[in-house]
Amino acid sequence: MAPIEGSAPSIGSSMNEGQKATGGDITVYPTKSEVTPSSDILQSTQEAELATETDTQEDVFNRILKANTDTTQHLREGDIVMTKSRSAIDCSDRSCFWPQSSDGIVRVPYVFSPDYDEAQIRWISEAMAEFEILTCIDFVNRTTESDYLNIKSGKGCWSQYGKTGGGQIVSVMKQGCMWKGVIQHELNHALGFLHEQGRSDRDSYVKIMWEYINSGNKGNFKKSDNSNNLGLQYDYSSVMHYGTNAFSNTPGKATIIPIPDASIPVGQRYGLSNLDVAKINKLYNCNRCSTILDSPSGSLSSDNYASKYSGNATCFCLIRIPSKRVSLQFDAFSLKSSTDCKTEYVKIYDGVSQSSEVLLDKTCGTKSPPTVTASGRTILVEFVRGGTGAATGFKISYTSGRSKPRKNGRESDVNNIKSKVF
Ligand SMILES: [Zn+2]
Repeated sequence: MAPIEGSAPSIGSSMNEGQKATGGDITVYPTKSEVTPSSDILQSTQEAELATETDTQEDVFNRILKANTDTTQHLREGDIVMTKSRSAIDCSDRSCFWPQSSDGIVRVPYVFSPDYDEAQIRWISEAMAEFEILTCIDFVNRTTESDYLNIKSGKGCWSQYGKTGGGQIVSVMKQGCMWKGVIQHELNHALGFLHEQGRSDRDSYVKIMWEYINSGNKGNFKKSDNSNNLGLQYDYSSVMHYGTNAFSNTPGKATIIPIPDASIPVGQRYGLSNLDVAKINKLYNCNRCSTILDSPSGSLSSDNYASKYSGNATCFCLIRIPSKRVSLQFDAFSLKSSTDCKTEYVKIYDGVSQSSEVLLDKTCGTKSPPTVTASGRTILVEFVRGGTGAATGFKISYTSGRSKPRKNGRESDVNNIKSKVF
């Protein structure tokens, strides 16, 4: 997989590199996530909060800092709880990573504290479901496992780093942390990821504006001398990156400025980036073909579209637009015909997982499928291709369904991914 048209020329090479980790022929892994379509969630008690998410465009880390203002928990870098037994962050023996089963899946057991309501549980489950479709991480209900995540509404949004043993708390406060990107940020800490701007090579990508950081907060900008960067690019759009004004002591003054191009957006509003996914897949040796498209409109093609392709693969593309409803149409379609489209097909879901409502069931042949529109901001495209064939594949274009103009749109974000091949 590789982008055919970069809306992010400055990080184009990083996307290529990132995609290597997730590309290639793969095995089909089952995902099991009891997630209802996002329409249900939008109608839930979270509606007001979700609407605000679209309007304010606030970055993930800023939300976390706000939620953690009154916390009594001792936190490092704003939201990481360090265990007493581990003074320095060192996971070189992999003991703080979650174990991989022989089927390639990394199962992370969890329990929810009983104080969440149904809508909150669905929302956290949807944040988990994106990991499950894009990576080999599978969050599973705990049965008897001794190491697990205890997800509860503590005071603030915080997590421990990596697997610490026993029932470790991931705090997702009901008021203030119920955002997909925030939940994914905290879960990613528990998987063993630190903040992106703490990487050993960060000074090549960002300038820290120390004069706008109070001495008590300077430790939050400490750089790791020996971080494991997994051979993958620095990611300004990582869900693990601080926002540009994090810990600023002067309103309007940035504490992190991208170099050399200060206009590159920093931080993430919506969820995991493609490089976040590539890093998880590399750290956990996942064999997964997946990609995210997060621009308000864009396109997706099958590998070698318009020429004969080869190889068996199952690939997933999560289209996640910033607002409104995703609508997609097929500009070209030719897949090998077979009974019940068993051999190869495209299937489309109204949401983020294979348990979401089906918008387009398995489709093959040469008749172009109808336009489909999701109930919300996400659509999942599943493409199974069955070896060498005469078919030429497909090309999809998608748009944000409603055309209401946006006040503070980020359509011009250079980091948003507009076009993909898979
Ligand atoms: Zn964090």
